[in-house]
Amino acid sequence: MNTSITLHQRQYALPTQPVVVVCIDGCDPQYITQGIADGVCPTIARFHTQGFASTADCVMPSFTNPNNVSIVTGAPPEVHGIAGNYSLDRETGKEIMMTDASLLRGETLLALLSEAGIAVAAVTAKDKLRKVLGHNLNGICFSSEKAGTCTLEEHGIDDVVELVGRPLPDMYSGDLSLFVLDAGLALLKQKRAQVLYLSLSDYIQHKFAPGTAESNEFLKAIDDRLQAFIELGAIVGCVADHGMSDKNNSNGTPNVIFLQDKLEQRFGAKSARVICPITDPFVRHHGALGSFVRVYAKDPANIEAMIDYISGLPGIEDTLSRQQAAIKLGLPEDREADIVVISSESCVLGSCTSEHDLSTVGDRPLRSHGGYSEQSVPFMLSHPMSEKYLQYAASTRLRNFDIFDFALNGVRENN
Ligand code: ZN
Ligand code: ZN
Repeated sequence: MNTSITLHQRQYALPTQPVVVVCIDGCDPQYITQGIADGVCPTIARFHTQGFASTADCVMPSFTNPNNVSIVTGAPPEVHGIAGNYSLDRETGKEIMMTDASLLRGETLLALLSEAGIAVAAVTAKDKLRKVLGHNLNGICFSSEKAGTCTLEEHGIDDVVELVGRPLPDMYSGDLSLFVLDAGLALLKQKRAQVLYLSLSDYIQHKFAPGTAESNEFLKAIDDRLQAFIELGAIVGCVADHGMSDKNNSNGTPNVIFLQDKLEQRFGAKSARVICPITDPFVRHHGALGSFVRVYAKDPANIEAMIDYISGLPGIEDTLSRQQAAIKLGLPEDREADIVVISSESCVLGSCTSEHDLSTVGDRPLRSHGGYSEQSVPFMLSHPMSEKYLQYAASTRLRNFDIFDFALNGVRENN
C-alpha cells in the first residue's frame, strides 16, 4: 500500500491523523499581530508558542484564485497555469472568468490524496473556486455560497444545511466564512473527511482594518473554531492567499489609476486593453480594483513605448514585459499579457472609469490587494515542526503553498 503521494516533484506522506488546512482569505499578517495583542485569538497565539508560526510569501498576482490553486498543488502559477480570477484568452481574444478547471495544468493534492484512499473534503466560501479545487476530487467539495443546492453526484454531499445545522449565510458577510469552518467541523466530527481544505472569503478584510471591532470579532470566531479542530485531534495549518492594504488618498477616496484611459489618451483610442484579474462576481468587495493589471497592446510595435510611459506614472511600482513577468513572478508565459503592471501599496489600478462601479464599494474606504505589498501572509501550524522543517524554514523564503508539505510531512513525532 502506498504511504505517500507525489505531485510536481514534491512528496507528501499520507496522514495518520486528521489534517485541516485553512486559507484565511485576505489575512494580512497585521490582523494576527493585532489580534494577539488584543487577546482575541488565544489558539493562534498558542500556535506561535507551542506550534509553528512564521510569515510566507504568496504567489503573484496576490489574488485569490492563483493562490488557492498554488496551495492545493504546492506549486507556482507557471506550473499549474492559473494566473488570475479573470483573464483574456490570447488565442480567442475573449475575456473569461475562471469558474472551472479548464485552465488547470496537472492535478491537485486533494485529488491525489482522494485517489490514494484518504477521505478528502474541500469547502470554499465562494463558489467560483469550487470547480478548480474539486477537479478530479473523489470526495466532498462545495461552497457555502451554494450550500443549499448540493447533490451527491456533483458535490459528494447533499445534506449540508442539516449537517451544519443553521441557516445559509449571506453572500456579503463574515458568516459566509464561518459557515465553511462549521461545515468542516461537522464533517470531521462525523468522520466524513480526514484531510480538509477550508478556504474562506475576504469580505471582512476588504472592509475593516486590523484591530477594528469587526475584524477582531471575526478573528475570534475563526480562532474558536481552530480550537475545536484541535480538540477533535486534527493538525491545523493556516495560511492566507494574500494580504490586504488601504488604497486611499489622504481625503479617503480610492487612489486609482485608470490605466486603459491613460494609455488611450497617450497612444490613441483602442490602442490597448487593460484586464483586471481581480474581477469576480463579488463586486462589493473591491469594485474590481486591485494592484495588478495586464495590458494587451493592439499594435506590438507600441509595447516598448507603453512600458516606458507606464513606468513613469506616479503610483506604479513595477512594469514588466511578458517575458520578464514570467521569469520574475513565476507566471505561465504562454498565457501572459504583453505588459504586467503592479502599483504601489497605497494605489490600485483600473481599466476605464466607465468599467468600475465605485458606488458599490463606497460604504467603506477601499482596501484591496494584488501587488507586492500584499505578498506577505501568515504561515502557522498547531503542532511543532521537526528539526528538518525548522531548518528548511530558517534557510529559505517560505511560500504559502508550502503549507501542505509542512502539515503532512513536517510535524515532529510524538508531539
Ligand atoms: Zn482572496
Ligand atoms: Zn479580495
